[in-house]
Amino acid sequence: MTQLPRHQHFIAGEWTEPAEGEYFESLNPTTAQPLYAAAHGTAEDVERAVAAARTAFEDPRWRDLSQTRRGRLLRNLGDLIGEHAEELARTETLDNGKLLREMRAQLAGLPEYFYYYAGLADKIHGEVIPGTSRELLNYTLREPVGVVGAITPWNSPLLLTATKLAPALAAGNTVVVKPSEHTSASLLALAPLFDEAGFPPGVVNVVTGFGATAGAPLTEHPGVAKVTFTGSTETGRRIARVCADRFVRCTLELGGKSPNMVFPDADLGSAAMGVIAGIFAAAGQTCVAGSRVLVHREVYDEILDRVTARAATIRIGDPLEDTTELGPLAIASQLEKVESYVELGLAEGGTIACGGIRPKTELGGYFFSPTVFTGTDNSMRICQEEIFGPVATVMPFASEDEAVALANDTSYGLAAGVWTRDLNRAHRMASRLEAGTVWVNTYRSMSPMSPRAGFKNSGAGTEQGTEVIREYTRLKSVWVNT
Ligand code: NAD
Repeated sequence: MTQLPRHQHFIAGEWTEPAEGEYFESLNPTTAQPLYAAAHGTAEDVERAVAAARTAFEDPRWRDLSQTRRGRLLRNLGDLIGEHAEELARTETLDNGKLLREMRAQLAGLPEYFYYYAGLADKIHGEVIPGTSRELLNYTLREPVGVVGAITPWNSPLLLTATKLAPALAAGNTVVVKPSEHTSASLLALAPLFDEAGFPPGVVNVVTGFGATAGAPLTEHPGVAKVTFTGSTETGRRIARVCADRFVRCTLELGGKSPNMVFPDADLGSAAMGVIAGIFAAAGQTCVAGSRVLVHREVYDEILDRVTARAATIRIGDPLEDTTELGPLAIASQLEKVESYVELGLAEGGTIACGGIRPKTELGGYFFSPTVFTGTDNSMRICQEEIFGPVATVMPFASEDEAVALANDTSYGLAAGVWTRDLNRAHRMASRLEAGTVWVNTYRSMSPMSPRAGFKNSGAGTEQGTEVIREYTRLKSVWVNT
């Protein structure tokens, strides 16, 4: 343990020893070898971090900063992320196995999240309400809520932190972030940049550790005025209950089982590539993974052939290598989960058209081959439950109505893909699908300007776009007798 780099909490602008002095190992998923040790956060560490965030919230250097200057700090942070992009990208690749190529592309866009909310920071304000009498002036103040508790998963730590941090700070809040116990490193690499960007100490704090011992105390802390969470539906439900008990606002971005639909009038080459990118990018570990591929009967065989032929040639290997197309799963338990779903799919009567195995590599990590199931029907568990790995089911449909019925026949409602050249159909489908995001002839496009919401069991509240500012502010009504 001593030879591993040690990462402490980041509280009030200082690297801080965990209260109980304990650390836990985090592994490199490519090699299954220990990578670093992170501070084992407990309620006491959360207490310190929330206290620091509360002090920073009242600190005149933050509270009295003009909103335009607040935006300036966000802009500085965006610039610094750009300057440190390579180091941040590598750190996350080592930590969760995402392709370095993909991380570089993600880091190239990450500053935009801070620039976008930098521009919004001084456009957050209340309004004058038309009065009932000339003597009474009624106006609203749109105020920051206070200390925000942000909890993130392991699949995209930096991006998912940015989507919370940028609007929370633009609105004048202070934040305590609890990253996943599996991937603390990239956020900790970002932490010193808060100070360099000019944020007063305590405006952003990071406490590492496990869900039960660090995450739960953060959601339960009376000093936390809002919780923003991205992760599984199961954990989201637990957090929602805690927040409801305290009447604390919470935003939840949860799991998915997204349909990706191909119509016969689509450009079949693009559609097949869209299907592949939709499910195999990041080894299927994206909340929006297009894991249920629905294909019109007329083109079913052709799409299946194209997808399985390409899937079989996907280069699996070290995510640091430029030529690698599929890296490992991020954690050992995820590999076991994916394998158990493949066994379940077979037991339920499905057929494996390609993949379904741990590929041979010398690397020693958590690799699983791109897998396609056929012969499934939508009632099977592999078609209903989130696998969060490189496993797709490909099912036929006969009509637009059947496609809509199959697509919506899920407890989730995060995203959906439609491949068609028929513009009318595209708009019809967009309005009929129960999903927070609909992509037509593209998949996984994302921008800080575009709102992201999960319908049904995929979440509550909105992230990104201008709408999210409401979630990080509270409205006060002021009456003045003139
Ligand atoms: P998870 O729910 O197991 O953990 C997420 C975070 O919650 C971790 O930091 C964990 O430590 C913490 N946590 C666990 N129990 C907690 C508790 N009781 N109180 C407070 N915090 C607790 O999810 P995961 O396995 O890390 O991530 C994968 C999931 O995230 C998938 O379901 C995926 O779909 C979802 N996800 C959703 C989105 C989206 O935008 N909708 C994006 C990415 C990932």
